[in-house]
Amino acid sequence: MASELRVTGTMVWYYYVCKRQVWLVAHQLDPDPEDDNLEYGRFLHQHAYKREKKEISIGHAVFDLFREEGENLVIGEVKKSSKHLTSARMQLLYYLRELKRMGVQATGEIRIPEEKRVVRVMLDPESERELDRAEREILRIIYLDKPPKAEKTPLCRSCAYRELCWA
Ligand code: SF4
Repeated sequence: MASELRVTGTMVWYYYVCKRQVWLVAHQLDPDPEDDNLEYGRFLHQHAYKREKKEISIGHAVFDLFREEGENLVIGEVKKSSKHLTSARMQLLYYLRELKRMGVQATGEIRIPEEKRVVRVMLDPESERELDRAEREILRIIYLDKPPKAEKTPLCRSCAYRELCWA
């Protein structure tokens, strides 16, 4: 099983939220599908910016294509709040780097419709170094025999894994 594990954009997202989530996701322990936060996230993903919504899947990365600007693609994610902005930014940078490796020039946007906010995201040498560091650390975590110990933080209250961690 371990040989099939690989870093994905989702894992990058979880890495910046909670290290334990990285392990749970990598080992395919799905969160509660009825969780309100997941439901709302799905609703937003389906309905926000519906008129221009296009989804692109390249390799194992799936993301929204917002528009083309000359040779440049603008890809992004719709988020329900800026609470996890660092995670969202790093996940998007991961996608931008995937595209760069395929020879596709792209920049990113994180759209937060409820806050009427758009955050531009660009890949640069510093962010690539940070991604390298995060990927090494994610691999270290997912090859652990057991998930890192749960540590209670304010984020646990709205986490879809809270039943698993704290029941
Ligand atoms: S409930 Fe808390 S410790 Fe458990 S996965 Fe979620 S954020 Fe991490």
